Amino acid sequence: MYCNYCGKVIQDDALVCAYCGIRVGASLARVKLVRPRLGRKVAGVCLGFSEYFDIDVTLVRVVWLIVAFMTGVGFLSYLIAWIIMPEEPLLLPAPTGVQPMTDTRY
Ligand SMILES: [Zn+2]
Repeated sequence: MYCNYCGKVIQDDALVCAYCGIRVGASLARVKLVRPRLGRKVAGVCLGFSEYFDIDVTLVRVVWLIVAFMTGVGFLSYLIAWIIMPEEPLLLPAPTGVQPMTDTRY
């Protein structure tokens, strides 16, 4: 994969870029555009975009709201994104054998 910050090729499983020393593992762990289950306000659309583009979720929400109120397109695009963007897969713990596969944490 490539480092987000210096653009050099680094190990696929690297957590820290060997060239610029910036932590890259966390932001590259989620490369798909999904709606995260934790931390969402409405449907997780803004949170998903913020994690995908590695920008502040508050900035995404503010810009999205401004666009929504100024043009009206934001509401429609939010609904479309809500429908199109898949939900983040449940991060189930490794099955221990006797536990049923039910997860009531959410
Ligand atoms: Zn780098």
